[in-house]
Amino acid sequence: MTVKAYGAHAGDLPLEPMDITRRGPGAHDVRIDIAYCGVCHSDIHQVRAEWAGTLYPCVPGHEIVGRVSAVGEHVDGFRVGDLVGVGCIVDSCRHCEDCGAGLENYCDHMVGTYNGPTPDAPGHTLGGYSQQIVVHERYVLRVKHPETQLAAVAPLLCAGITTYSPLRHWNVGPGHKVGVVGIGGLGHMGIKLAHAMGAHVVAFTTSESKRGAAKALGADEVVVSRHAGEMAAHAKSLDFILNTVAAPHDLDAFFELLKRDGTMALVGAPATPHPSPQVFNLIMKRRSLAGSMIGGIPETQEMLDFCAVHGIVTDIEMIRAGQINEAYERMLKGDVKYRFVIDCASLGG
Ligand code: NAP
Ligand code: ZN
Ligand code: ZN
Repeated sequence: MTVKAYGAHAGDLPLEPMDITRRGPGAHDVRIDIAYCGVCHSDIHQVRAEWAGTLYPCVPGHEIVGRVSAVGEHVDGFRVGDLVGVGCIVDSCRHCEDCGAGLENYCDHMVGTYNGPTPDAPGHTLGGYSQQIVVHERYVLRVKHPETQLAAVAPLLCAGITTYSPLRHWNVGPGHKVGVVGIGGLGHMGIKLAHAMGAHVVAFTTSESKRGAAKALGADEVVVSRHAGEMAAHAKSLDFILNTVAAPHDLDAFFELLKRDGTMALVGAPATPHPSPQVFNLIMKRRSLAGSMIGGIPETQEMLDFCAVHGIVTDIEMIRAGQINEAYERMLKGDVKYRFVIDCASLGG
């Protein structure tokens, strides 16, 4: 079936309307009419070929929500009309140790929602800036929030799980002092989730204008990281830091804020490397540098359910598909509070 989408034909070209084809639903497939799709900074990295291996045409988008419009004959978990989501993963090998543990995100054969290998035309997956998507039921999530919140649920599918998973993995909870660095799409969810998990949250931002806004999101304290004095006030005091910054920067300034045995987990994925941190900053206090990638399917469902129970959604600014290039430019300037979401009905005309 042909559907309307928005994508780019090359890394140095703007996104434009295009027609793409979706396979008919196979026995285990779910067809979703996409209502909204969030705009992740990874979409910019990938569509502009800032990461290696972008295939064109490239249709980004991995924060997808919508309604089931058809199911294959062997699908029993979903019915036509259900509210569902799809995140960054649409397939994996399904039999390795990682898949067995529900950590499909770490499967060596994970297929991304866009730019991943597929037998479907054109030979690589095409993402959620489109009217419909067809996905194997194993990778479809159930949305339990009220339908009125659907657009604000979309970014949970990447920004939500990418921050939830490391906060859970490093056991963040009451009694912990947690730093969240970079208050963009991921960072604002990091604040909301760490706060809901009971931690004392310190937000680190380069933007003076976010000082008040970060408190409203649930931060107990806010530090403008350009001010050395404000940074020094938190020296050796944090148990865990979640670093979401999309650009290379000095990591040492943050290691100095970790307590003995503290960990900084990087989730930001800049196009070029960070300057190497000082080894002494790690060995002196047995500190750790770690990374984390999105989350597996069971944990993504757990995160969605946690957010539904706690009334958590993302703070969004809705756009029409035709505003996507302008939205990218604004994201590069940090000018979004805190996630753009495409109203996919605007793809129709
Ligand atoms: P975003 O909304 O653009 O937010 C990034 C934030 O980083 C900015 O709002 C800004 O916050 C801070 N920042 C500081 N200096 C910056 C600079 N020079 N350029 C850009 N940002 C700067 O991005 P996002 O969607 O949250 O994604 C953040 C990063 O995580 C991206 O690299 C993305 O590819 C990556 N990502 C990784 C995973 C994963 O699985 N590990 C998943 C999704 C996304 P302040 O104004 O507060 O300083
Ligand atoms: Zn993403
Ligand atoms: Zn696997």
